[in-house]
Amino acid sequence: MNKRLNPEQIKACFDVNRMAHLIEEFSEIGADPNGGVTRLAFSREDLKARNKIIDIFEKKLQLKVRTDALGNIFGRREGEKEDLPVLMTGSHLDSVRNGGKFDGSAGVLGAVEVVRVLNKLEIRTKHPLELVVTCSEEPNSFGISTFGSRGMVAKLTRDDLKKLKDEDGRSFQEALAFVGANLDEIDQAVLKPGEIAAFVEIHIEQMPNLYEKDIDIGIVDGITGICRKNIKIRGEASHCGTTPMSKRKDALCAASEIVLALETAAKEQNGKALATVGHVMVFPNAINITPSLVDMIAEIRSFYPDYSKAISDRLDEAAEETIKRRGVGIQTEVNYDTKPVHFSGHVKEALRKSCQFFGLSHMGLYSMAGHDAAHMAEVTQAGMIFIPCRDGISHRPDEWTEPSSIIKGAQVLLGALLLLDSS
Ligand SMILES: [Zn+2]
Repeated sequence: MNKRLNPEQIKACFDVNRMAHLIEEFSEIGADPNGGVTRLAFSREDLKARNKIIDIFEKKLQLKVRTDALGNIFGRREGEKEDLPVLMTGSHLDSVRNGGKFDGSAGVLGAVEVVRVLNKLEIRTKHPLELVVTCSEEPNSFGISTFGSRGMVAKLTRDDLKKLKDEDGRSFQEALAFVGANLDEIDQAVLKPGEIAAFVEIHIEQMPNLYEKDIDIGIVDGITGICRKNIKIRGEASHCGTTPMSKRKDALCAASEIVLALETAAKEQNGKALATVGHVMVFPNAINITPSLVDMIAEIRSFYPDYSKAISDRLDEAAEETIKRRGVGIQTEVNYDTKPVHFSGHVKEALRKSCQFFGLSHMGLYSMAGHDAAHMAEVTQAGMIFIPCRDGISHRPDEWTEPSSIIKGAQVLLGALLLLDSS
């Protein structure tokens, strides 16, 4: 931490009114009539928000801006030593449909405030500092989430992406070109080993822990693993007026048993895991025909692989029992499986020290939602700062975080970046 300044002097440079104003300005881009925000990746609104942040980076913060081939925007503040790896912070500006004003924006605008304060205090870091606005963090119309960060850690291939078209027939290449990026050059956007010294992201918690306990800052231990299973249940279509109950092989009734078994299994894990069936397709989906086929996806989230496996095993057992009892056919197949991510102890320590320096209350917690920082953790020491949001509500128009909470997050970020800079 800077020796010449005490925490109160630094705090006095942060401006909560300015933050409130910035949040409102961005939430006008893609504003929905009911108060929410729709700023889908690669949309006109997304482009408008991107241009606005580039303008702020260049004109208000005097950062050198570049956009990589994945559409990630970087604003660079040179350090004392040019050849040192970059300290990086930021988040995303795209939103879900009819989402809130803070998911993503809080991290970008919090980082903007950090640079504004560094400029004001004339603090020059040794490492170069880069603010990043990642491209398409939320699931886009091509079914990809955390696109920009995944691309930076070489988890996407150009050939696969080239095949993608959305429901409107737009190719992924066109979508990327719309925001000034170039699919043909995405290999050049892959981060090189040692290029990033650390990555830290501010984000709203999206769960109620901090809000309910009235704690300023969550120091994120890591990010949940996510396992998704496709479940196909084959029964028999039959006339629902003439087929007795005893003669039916109703795929939806069988599916219901599995859904409930999954819920029961998840509830038994003492809050250490969550499980959901959120996607169900029923065929033929007709009023007077018993369902012959159900196609659904079960999702299990946990920071603890053992708990996740326990639920997954129970799901398979329930499927076996249902096959025997109802005479239906059931196939399950894992189609997505990401391991939990553990954030850097060094970054967490810097965040803790920074909280102490600024006198902010804090607790450790983990994220049950995916974030760009999970991918960045593969190439650098990464961490996240959570700030409270009202009732833990997110991805909804009534998502709310106090601007003063974003300021507190920004203070912790500033302190942690300076500690990481000097270590
Ligand atoms: Zn987000």
